[in-house]
Amino acid sequence: MRLQDKVAIVTGGGSGFGAGIVQAFVEEGATVMVVDRDGAAAQRVAEPLGAKARPFTGDVSKSAEVEAMVDAAQREYGRLDIVVNNAGVAHLPAPMETIDEEAFDRIAAVNMRGIYLAARYAVPVFKAAEKGVFLNIASTGGVSPRPNLTWYNASKAWAIGATRAMAVELAPLGIRVNAINPVAGDTPLLPTFMGGDTDEHRKRFISVIPMGRLSTPRDIAMAAVYLCSDEASLVTGVALEVDGGRCL
Ligand code: ADP
Repeated sequence: MRLQDKVAIVTGGGSGFGAGIVQAFVEEGATVMVVDRDGAAAQRVAEPLGAKARPFTGDVSKSAEVEAMVDAAQREYGRLDIVVNNAGVAHLPAPMETIDEEAFDRIAAVNMRGIYLAARYAVPVFKAAEKGVFLNIASTGGVSPRPNLTWYNASKAWAIGATRAMAVELAPLGIRVNAINPVAGDTPLLPTFMGGDTDEHRKRFISVIPMGRLSTPRDIAMAAVYLCSDEASLVTGVALEVDGGRCL
């Protein structure tokens, strides 16, 4: 039980990697607030986990909703130990100059502003407790971008930069900040990353992963458990690739 008695918020917990992280955190003894703008999805993930998980409908790009999310965790559980910024969006794969402003703004609002707002409301809580952990789910695309996902990849490079910048400022206060760079998983976003949904797209996509497979929510969740546990108490500012060698 590596997260015994910890209270965690997992954003985008209603699907994909986020749902895997919620499940693993509960198995390791944590109590988790499953935050998703899709409230029904959060409910579907939280319900089978009983009292250890609670759904919360919220949009990480909206200041009042992020404030309410942090307040609710504290009100309900009296503490907050871990915030996992997992909620993310991608644009459809296309040449960079054809991505319209609305799609760009959406990426910036969720993948970038969401991390900023979580810091804005959770850092004061962590400072008061003189401890706390942030985990940002970035992407291999932030390190080793491929064509046609330019603004998504750039937002993930920003998330890695934010992780390092947050880590250096918060380290003296006992607050750790890390990231995970997953290679794409078999989640609803996969066709976007592959640039299509055929067997041919899949084969070509997997051929650039030296270990020859996609990530699973479990792969990402196991790395998340480690980085958020006290076993990683000296680890801060890293972006851990969980990618089967894709970035090598
Ligand atoms: P991944 O492959 O990264 O796990 P998914 O699309 O499966 O991607 O999951 C992303 C989750 O994040 C979805 O449940 C989605 O509803 C949620 N999400 C997306 N944008 C927001 C947002 N602004 N606020 C909260 N949750 C969000």
